[in-house]
Amino acid sequence: MKEYEKTGVIALNEIRIPSEEQLKRGVAITECVQEIPCNPCVDACPVDAISMENINSPPFVDYDKCTGCAQCAAVCPGLAIFVVKLEEEKALVTLPYEFLPLPEKGEEVKALDREGKEAGKAIVKRVIKKRDRTCLVTVEVDRELAMVARNIRVVK
Ligand code: SF4
Ligand code: SF4
Repeated sequence: MKEYEKTGVIALNEIRIPSEEQLKRGVAITECVQEIPCNPCVDACPVDAISMENINSPPFVDYDKCTGCAQCAAVCPGLAIFVVKLEEEKALVTLPYEFLPLPEKGEEVKALDREGKEAGKAIVKRVIKKRDRTCLVTVEVDRELAMVARNIRVVK
């Protein structure tokens, strides 16, 4: 049995982690491992960086093609795509967010890990809100949280 089937939470060793160079450019990481018939991420990608063997296969991102545009993250019904970009001492994580109130640019929020536990602080750098799409929030976190922060808690 796979780790996520036991715990309900995907483990790092179940995710294809991009190289440091790829992460410095900023790439989409699909934390989508179950075999389900779903593929809007494939159709959303403007540079054909996401492929699938068949409609039930987990998506495969070509990290060298991906530009980090996050269009795939906005259409993923599983909220399973995150764009991660490493900077000098910080990291930018773009994540899907479907709660209200939405945070605002410049606001400090809590970074949460995959289990929903508080992992540190995050500063909101960008909020993308489109009428028919999941909102995307980009937060700045400490570099060591790049592969940890996968949600936020807004503290109003
Ligand atoms: S972030 Fe943009 S370029 Fe990268 S896989 Fe998603 S849609 Fe394609
Ligand atoms: S759209 Fe999301 S849930 Fe559907 S295959 Fe792509 S990553 Fe998985």
